[in-house]
Order: sequence, then C-alpha cells, then structure tokens
Amino acid sequence: MKKTAVIGAGFGGLALAIRLQAAGIPTLLLEQRDKPGGRAYVYQDHGFTFDAGPTVITDPSAIEELFTLSGKQMKEYVDLLPVAPFYRLCWENGNIFNYDNDQAQLEQQIAQFNPRDVEGYRQFLDYSRAVFKEGYLKLGTVPFLSFRDMIRAAPQLARLQAWRSVYSKVASYIEDEHLRQAFSFHSLLVGGNPFATSSIYTLIHALEREWGVWFPRGGTGALVNGMVKLFEDLGGEVALNAKVSRLETEGENVKAVHLQDGRVFPTRAVASNADVVHTYNDLLSEHAGSTAQARSLKGKRMSNSLLVLYFGLNHHHDQLAHHTVCFGPRYRELIDEIFNHDGLAEDFSLYLHAPCVTDPSLAPAGCGSYYVLAPVPHLGTANLDWSVEGPRLRDRIFDYLEQHYMPGLRSQLVTHRMFTPFDFRDELNAYQGSAFSVEPILSQSAWFRPHNRDKHLHNLYLVGAGTHPGAGIPGVIGSAKATAGLMLEDLA
Ligand SMILES: Cc1cc2nc3c(=O)[nH]c(=O)nc-3n(C[C@H](O)[C@H](O)[C@H](O)COP(=O)(O)OP(=O)(O)OC[C@H]3O[C@@H](n4cnc5c(N)ncnc54)[C@H](O)[C@@H]3O)c2cc1C
Repeated sequence: MKKTAVIGAGFGGLALAIRLQAAGIPTLLLEQRDKPGGRAYVYQDHGFTFDAGPTVITDPSAIEELFTLSGKQMKEYVDLLPVAPFYRLCWENGNIFNYDNDQAQLEQQIAQFNPRDVEGYRQFLDYSRAVFKEGYLKLGTVPFLSFRDMIRAAPQLARLQAWRSVYSKVASYIEDEHLRQAFSFHSLLVGGNPFATSSIYTLIHALEREWGVWFPRGGTGALVNGMVKLFEDLGGEVALNAKVSRLETEGENVKAVHLQDGRVFPTRAVASNADVVHTYNDLLSEHAGSTAQARSLKGKRMSNSLLVLYFGLNHHHDQLAHHTVCFGPRYRELIDEIFNHDGLAEDFSLYLHAPCVTDPSLAPAGCGSYYVLAPVPHLGTANLDWSVEGPRLRDRIFDYLEQHYMPGLRSQLVTHRMFTPFDFRDELNAYQGSAFSVEPILSQSAWFRPHNRDKHLHNLYLVGAGTHPGAGIPGVIGSAKATAGLMLEDLA
C-alpha cells in the first residue's frame, strides 16, 4: 500500500506524522538531515549538549494530546520540568524583572517600575486572556481555507482590535517603557516585530500564564526523540538523510516523492513541513500552478533571521536564570533596523539560554552549556556576507556578555559554534535565511497565510511555521492538528 509522506521532521512534521499514523494511515517521515527536529536540532560537542533552537516550551497540553490520542502516556516518553522564573529580563541601567506566574510577585515588581502600571497590567492581562480564547483556543487549530472562514472570524478580530500592533496595545495599558518592552517582546519569539505584528500575538502572555514555561529533562532534543519514538511505536517509518528533490505530479495530484539520492516513493498524499518557498519553488518547479504560487510567496514579507552562538564553558554561571533577555540600549529603533534596514546595527538585544540551571546533565560536571542569540535581518533585508559578519558579531557578543553577564567567559570557553542566516538558508532551505518563515503580520495571517491544503494539488498539504497558524512550537503543533483534520477527511 502506498504510504502518505511527510517531508521534514520539525515539530510540525513530527506532530502531523503522529496524528496520521495514530489514525491508521501508514506514514513515511522524510528528513534531509542526519537527525530529526528541524530548528530543534541538537549538537553534541566535547560533552556539552546544545539545543539548536526552541528552548521555551509552552502549552504542554498540545504536546500531551499527541500522546493521549495515540493511547500512550507522555511521561513514559519525556519528562517536562517547570522553569522559574519564566524569564529574567535585564536592561543596561541595571533594572531587572523576574517574569513569573505569581500575580502578587509580578504586581510587586511592576509597582517598583511604576505603581500606576499595576492596574494597567491587570487590564492588559484581561485583554491578553480574551485574545488567547479567541485567537488560540478557537482559531489556532482551524484551517482557513476560504475567505468565508476569515469573514466569520472578522467580528471577533475587530472587537479585539487585531489591526493594532502588539506594542501599541501594550502601551495603551502600560506607561513605563521598560514594562512595555517586557510585555511586548514575546512576538519576537515567533518572528513577529512587536511594532508591526497584530496584537493577537499578545495571547502568548496569557498562554504562558495559563500553562507555564517548561523544559524537557535532557533538553528540547529529548522531546523530539520522545515524539520520534512515539511515531515509531505506532508503526511509523522515519527516513533520515532523505533529502526530497522533487514532487512528481500527474494532473492535479502528487504521484511520487523523489529523493536526491535517486530513491522514489509513490505516495497517496504529501504534506510538506519544509520551508514553503522551497516547497513550491524547488520541489514543484515542474508544476505551473506551483511556480505561480512560489512567485506570490516570494512577494511576502519573511520574518527576521538570527545569529545563534552555542558555547560550552568550564564554569557554571549560577547567577544566571535559565532564560534571560538582555535588552540593549535601543528597542523600537533596533527592531526597525532588523526588520527593515539594509545593514547590521551597532547594538543588539540578546536572548541567553542557560539550560544547566534546570538540567545540569547537559554539560560535564561543574561546566555549563549556553546559547545566545541576536535577532538580525534576513538576507532579503540585508544581503550581508555572514562568513565575515558572523565572526565579527560573535566577538562583540562574547565581549558584551563577559562585561555584563558572564565574567570570565572568554577564559572559560571550551567549545563554541555558530549558526548564521547562511545556515538557515543552506541547512534548512529557509527562504532568505528567515528563522521563522512568513512574517506574522495581519495581512499574512489566517486565510492570508499559505493554506494547510494546496489550492491546486488535491493531495498536497502544508504543515509548520509557514502555514496557519504560524511559528513557535504551539503554533506548528496547532498547524499539524489543522492539517491532520483535512487529511483524515480527504483520505478516509
Ligand atoms: C534559534 C531559535 C529559537 C527558537 N525558540 C523558540 C522557543 O523557545 N519556543 C518556541 O515555541 N519556538 C521557538 N522557535 C521557533 C520554533 O523553533 C519554530 O517555529 C518551529 O520549531 C518550526 O517547526 P516546523 O515544524 O515549521 O519545522 P522546522 O523546524 O523548520 O523543520 C523543517 C524540517 O524540514 C526539513 N527539510 C527542509 N527541506 C527538506 C527537503 N527538501 N527534504 C527533506 N527534508 C527537508 C528540514 O531539514 C527540517 O528538519 C525558535 C526558533 C529558532 C530558530
């Protein structure tokens, strides 16, 4: 019997493959790299474990659902540990905000920044919860295939003022500039500019307050491995080092998947978890409708890219929190330069990951695994030579961390590696080296985003960051639910 193929073993591809296999549809998961996970790849260097991408695990219920619908218990596959504080936010003037789930503690800290903002924060939380209910619980896993679906959602979106930006909505409740940053930076976690992305993305705050922030024991890679094991326990087949080079079509159907190494898999249906532009432009270059789709996708705005530095130290910096956001001297101007300007800013804001705070097993005894990332323009915004800019920026970031956060860093370095916009482009086939695919602005969301089922090819589907609802682990796992719903209906 012909199998259904899922191209790409990112969180979206994995979640979809599990749903299909659990529903009795024999599924083949094809991944071009030597390990599954996609953005959540894992590096192991000199005894240090580095999760390459996602580290802030939210909405564990969406992950757990994959195990329960398969008749299994999540705890047999992966152990999620709570993270506290959720994040530590730091500014150059010495201000610190420990962002946590304790209302009293939050309000006490907010009062120290600006007493009037306590009431503003309560109102913001109410707003964020309302958006979470509409935008995440109701619409997050529903495919938007027709404009009618959009019209149906329009009254709620209008009521929630979805046309406003995240920052402008936060600023309507909160006066203090640092607090405005503290409650608006979240959209950057999914590639959204807080000054341009729809205020719908304020739902991330309510989502974190609802279910907390978690970290898998053994790192995010342990969650990926748990999902792969679940898929295989259900009878699913994973092929690694399996780069898809083209999809063979016949009329308006995909007939077979061709791999670069010459293997061919006749298929019943295909879901692509690969980058959406790569899917239409490269894998479907012989199909006229798809090349038109590729042209239209290339006209969309892509999310920013990132420079990520993974480094192992012979010292554990126990003064750090698990997640630290290091705000630089500028906020609005820096973000504007990252999203809209040709060139690299002199300053930066950073996210610093110190997973050994929660799980010391990720480094040799007494040592620490870390990564630090800086949002940077993608290659379409700033066509930089990252073989030159990468090492330069790395050195500036290490100096900055040593000066402000991690004294002695350079003398403690055991190992380090770097992932630049070139690597997003070359290793992950990400168009323009974007780290989060199509930018989540209102005019590129829901129905305006590439659809979960293709318009022309009846048995082609999309899953992952480039389709509805969008990037982030909860987003791509939600996209798998939306896509699986369509596939199960079509393949029944
Ligand atoms: C550094 C970083 C930090 C992040 N932090 C967080 C976080 O803390 N929390 C959070 O929720 N989100 C975070 N995100 C976002 C989140 O990681 C992504 O949105 C999500 O993991 C993307 O999943 P995906 O299913 O779209 O697939 P991807 O992870 O993009 O995987 C797609 C897969 O397809 C494969 N592929 C591509 N082309 C082919 C081909 N031709 N043949 C075969 N395989 C192919 C790729 O190799 C890849 O494995 C972060 C992202 C990055 C980059």
